[in-house]
Amino acid sequence: FIQASPSSFHAVAEAARQLGGAGFVELREVDAWDAGAGSFYVIRDGAIVAWRQSAGADATTPYRIVGSHTDSPGFKLKPRPTTASLGWLQAGVEVYGGPLFNSWLDRELEFAGRLAFRDGTTALVRTGPLLRFPQLAVHLDRGVNTDGLRLDPQRHLNPVVGLGDVGSADLVGHLARLADQTAADVAGYDISVADTQPPAVFGLDDALFAAGRLDNLSSVHASLVAFLALPASLDSIPVFAAFDHEEVGSDTRSGASGPLLPDILTRVSAWLGADESQRLRAYARSWCLSADAGHAVHPNYPERHDPVNRPVAGSGPILKINANQRYATDALGAAEWARACDAAGVGYQEFVSSNAVPCGSTIGPLTATRLGIPCV
Ligand code: ZN
Repeated sequence: FIQASPSSFHAVAEAARQLGGAGFVELREVDAWDAGAGSFYVIRDGAIVAWRQSAGADATTPYRIVGSHTDSPGFKLKPRPTTASLGWLQAGVEVYGGPLFNSWLDRELEFAGRLAFRDGTTALVRTGPLLRFPQLAVHLDRGVNTDGLRLDPQRHLNPVVGLGDVGSADLVGHLARLADQTAADVAGYDISVADTQPPAVFGLDDALFAAGRLDNLSSVHASLVAFLALPASLDSIPVFAAFDHEEVGSDTRSGASGPLLPDILTRVSAWLGADESQRLRAYARSWCLSADAGHAVHPNYPERHDPVNRPVAGSGPILKINANQRYATDALGAAEWARACDAAGVGYQEFVSSNAVPCGSTIGPLTATRLGIPCV
């Protein structure tokens, strides 16, 4: 799943492929929705929402939502991206979200994402290994191991893509040819940089797993697998929601702060004959699980976690709790989580950040704020 998903658009396409294989039908937002009971999904840019309406679903049937995000921090291709310096061909990229810069150095990377053409069509493309952020050699940076590595993102994070001068190559043309088009056909693009190293299981007893984009394709994958394994008949409407743009704050039309999920649930409720009051009654009986990656305690930096509530690797999924509501969990949510884990026979642990190390946030509080649906 991770290898098939070098960009949020590819993650959505892969999820849609698996949903389609399981009989889900794609609905378009521009169409009327009137097909009756069934299994459906909607794609909005780099986000996807799928749900299943049993024949018995009615105007107050509650929703059971799992939300995750398709994007990961990294870099995006700038306009006019092909540059050259001193015999090197380079690409202009812009920082996306909060990547750990040094982790991107000296790896074979690829471009992947969406091209939009002048004729109104779009295409997903990926290049395979094409670029690399070369680190300055230690001989030219003698203090790096004692003084630390300083990377100015404008000066030092211009990846190399080849040799030559600007006139000898054209990145947009290269991307266009992957879709059997020309550079002149390309009117816009959303292209990310992605690590090409395959995921790996390693360590004693194969205890360890590493991959790029685990935050948050691990949750997209887990929730998709669970969603596809649901029994045919349910007394709720299960919803699989994977949003884009979590790493940049979610305030977009395909992000969790945007109207995507409210739009779809409003339309599904209307489809089931619900008036405004009945739709809100359904929300009041619903739950949302916000699924994201968390930080296990680091063996070399144990002081960065709370000494009691610090997740130990291999000891089960983490329930995140935050007094300032950076995470949405409250007492009732914690109890719902405990019941679900007990029913699944899965152990779990809590995460509370150190008071000296402020935590991040995720889509849970946004969904709860948008919809009023309790979130964990
Ligand atoms: Zn995340």
